[in-house]
Amino acid sequence: MKKTIAIGIMLLVSVRGHNQGTALKEQSQFTTSSKLVNPEKNTPFPYGHAIKELATDKLGHLWFTSTEGLYMYDGNAFRNYKEVEGLSLVGAVDLVQDKDGNIWVGAKGGLVKVSIEGTTPKLAGYAKPTTTARNSSGIWTSEPPGNDFVHNIYIGMDGTAWFGSGYKLYYLDVTTKKIIETAFGGFQYDKRKKAGRGNIDDFGFQGMQEDAEGNFLVAEAACEGEQATYLIHKADKYNPCFTLKCNHNLSNAKEKDQHKNNLEKIFHLVKVKGTDKSVAFYSSFKMRSGEIYYAGQGLNKLVNGQFVSVMSSTELDKDIITKLFQDSKGNLWFGTAEGMNFEGKGVYFYNTTTHQLQNFDKADGLLSGLPFSNNVVTCIAEDGNGKIWVAGDAGLSFFAKYPEKGKRPVIKTLEKADGMDESHIYSIVSDKTGNIWFGTWNLGLFGIKADKLNKYTE
Ligand SMILES: [Zn+2]
Repeated sequence: MKKTIAIGIMLLVSVRGHNQGTALKEQSQFTTSSKLVNPEKNTPFPYGHAIKELATDKLGHLWFTSTEGLYMYDGNAFRNYKEVEGLSLVGAVDLVQDKDGNIWVGAKGGLVKVSIEGTTPKLAGYAKPTTTARNSSGIWTSEPPGNDFVHNIYIGMDGTAWFGSGYKLYYLDVTTKKIIETAFGGFQYDKRKKAGRGNIDDFGFQGMQEDAEGNFLVAEAACEGEQATYLIHKADKYNPCFTLKCNHNLSNAKEKDQHKNNLEKIFHLVKVKGTDKSVAFYSSFKMRSGEIYYAGQGLNKLVNGQFVSVMSSTELDKDIITKLFQDSKGNLWFGTAEGMNFEGKGVYFYNTTTHQLQNFDKADGLLSGLPFSNNVVTCIAEDGNGKIWVAGDAGLSFFAKYPEKGKRPVIKTLEKADGMDESHIYSIVSDKTGNIWFGTWNLGLFGIKADKLNKYTE
């Protein structure tokens, strides 16, 4: 059943300028808006109303996931979807767009696909099987309770939607439209058990990336510094042992061994060149050259089935990279996450022409919107004017001038005077017209249009 709740119009009319503060602030053209069109709706999103991921569809509508469900903003009004065909979207996080412009959302217990037909969004739900027919280890006939949200959606070249839920890896079969469980969860479980650990909370699936040939890289999530990436050859992608559709009788010890041996041949550990160890990637990024970078502990590319550091002997090798972004000039930006000292390293800028690497953090004014900034970057985007925006655990910053080696960076962090309250920001997106949108932890949605900061609240 499709349930649609339209909520109020959230537009802003009052505009005030500001022109005080430091030299840096004076460069800001920001003006803020503070009055809502609909006085009945003049309340902010409730505390904890976090906006997680944003995307714009081919009609220019903005879609985002939040603790209150999936939202669509058409420029006039917001529409809220709390449930689609029995799948709850309240608390949904993951949202990705495929190459055909469809938007996929990770719901509780399945996938929701948003396709645009004419000018109407059509939402379809695909439920995960509630029980597992077979699993190499015979564990968990269903997902652990409370761990049922779909995460890390990846749309393959053939249009197959792959995703994680709990500790398992699934995919939506293009032909049958049925969700199929793979052997990845069971394979990991067996590996852990062999090493004397089998705690279900200690591992899972955190990402996937197809290379140019159609081979898969699958990253596992794990505690204890044992994270790994596996390569699955294109020919094995739908191997019946991998998709748990084989005829092996798993209650027969001999057949179970055969099945497990097959899996060992399907999952190839991707080692870091020169070591016996693997690393997991948190995010992957296809450069305009077609080359794919895998970011996690350091930045790697895949060469002959091994991870090779892209910029060896740089600081980048030691830091945890969460986000990769290639700007319109072809240069690269890397966002960092908390490391061992509970601090990130801000953002790295790599000039692909001069091969110079620069690092910017709160000491340069980046993400200094909160007194306890941890230099953690969640998102990087570019607006229609070529301005680079960086969001993180301490607000939102932009580079007022494009970085140049040897010159002091000109970074502006949005402050209260700009109409920006302190907030953690999860996501930014630049729409068709070059406007910037960003979602906050508890203050709703912000949009920057023609250098005006607009705040959208319920
Ligand atoms: Zn099998």
